[in-house]
Amino acid sequence: MTQGNWWQRVGAWRALVQWGFFLWVVYIGVRFGMFVRHFESHGATPLVSRPPGVEGFLPIGALVSLKHWLASGTINIVHPAALVIFLTIVGMSLLAKKSFCSWLCPVGTLSEALWKLGRRLLGRNYRPWPWLDVALRGAKYLLLFFFVKIILLDMPALALAAFLDTPYWAVSDVKMLHFFTRMSTTTVVVLALLTALSFLYANFWCRYLCPYGALLGLASLLSPFKIRRDPEGCTGCQSCSRACPAGMPVHAKETIRSPECGGCLTCVASCPERNILRMGLPLWRRPLPVWVFPGAVVALFAVGVGAGMASGHWQSSMGYAEYRMLIPMAFMFGH
Ligand code: SF4
Ligand code: SF4
Repeated sequence: MTQGNWWQRVGAWRALVQWGFFLWVVYIGVRFGMFVRHFESHGATPLVSRPPGVEGFLPIGALVSLKHWLASGTINIVHPAALVIFLTIVGMSLLAKKSFCSWLCPVGTLSEALWKLGRRLLGRNYRPWPWLDVALRGAKYLLLFFFVKIILLDMPALALAAFLDTPYWAVSDVKMLHFFTRMSTTTVVVLALLTALSFLYANFWCRYLCPYGALLGLASLLSPFKIRRDPEGCTGCQSCSRACPAGMPVHAKETIRSPECGGCLTCVASCPERNILRMGLPLWRRPLPVWVFPGAVVALFAVGVGAGMASGHWQSSMGYAEYRMLIPMAFMFGH
C-alpha cells in the first residue's frame, strides 16, 4: 500500500517553498543593490527603499546584537532586523526542527540543487569514509564554538556597545553586498571549491561547515516535532534511510533525535507504507495532515518577522544623510 498523494508530493511542495523563498531573497538583494548604487553614484541613479530583510545575511552581527540586548535590555536600532530574523530562525528550530535549513535557507536550496544535479549527471553522490564524515561534521560545531566563545562569552558589554556604534556595523550590509558583487580572487576560488564539493557530496556546506546550521541543529533537539516510525507496520525495506540526505538510519530508529535531521520529509515521502513513518508530535498518536509541518514552518517565519515589524524593530534608524556619507566610504571600513 502506498502513502497518500499528499505525502508523495511533499518534495514538490518543499521545492516550491524553497525556490519561492529563494526568489524573494534575490529580489531583496537586487533591491538593496539599487539602494546602494544610488549612493555610490552620488544620486545619479534612482533611490529605492532599503529592504530590511537584507539583514538576514548578518548572523554574526546578530549574535553581537543578541548579547547586547541581553546585557542592556535594548535592541540595536542600526540593524534591528538582523536580530529579529536571527531570533525567528532559532525559534523555528526550537519548535519545528532545523526546518529553516531544508525549507527556506537560500544556501541550502542552492546546495541541494547542486548535489541533485551531481547525482543526476554522475549517477550518485559520494560519501566520505565514516570516520572522516564524523570528523568533518565536527568542523561546523568548532566554528560555532569559536563564534560563541569570542562573542557570547568573551566580549565585554562595553566592547559590544562600541562595535554596534562603529561605521563598520552601519555599513556591514553594504560590505556583505560587495562580498557577492566585488569578489576577490580568494573568494572566487573558495566558492568554486565549495560548489565542486557540493556537486559531489550531498549538502557539503550544510553538513560540514555551516556554523549557523550547527546552532540550529542543537536548538532543534528541543523541537516537539520529530520523525517517528511505527515499528509494527514497518517492513524494514530501508527506502527511508536510502532517501535521507542527512544519512540518518531512519529504518533502525523509532524516533529521529539527531541535530542533523533537517525535517525535509524526504524519508516520509519515500516510505511505501501508509502512516508508518511521519513527522509527529509527542502525545498525538493520530497521523497529522501532511500540510501541518510545512504550514508550521512558513507560519513561524511569518509570525517572527511580523512580530519584529509590528513592534517597531525592523526599519534601520539610519537616515538618508548618514547613508550618503557612509556608503561611498564603505570600502574603507574593516580593513
Ligand atoms: S530523517 Fe527524514 S526528515 Fe530528517 S533529514 Fe532525513 S529525510 Fe529529512
Ligand atoms: S521506508 Fe517505511 S517501511 Fe521501509 S524501512 Fe523506512 S519506515 Fe520502514
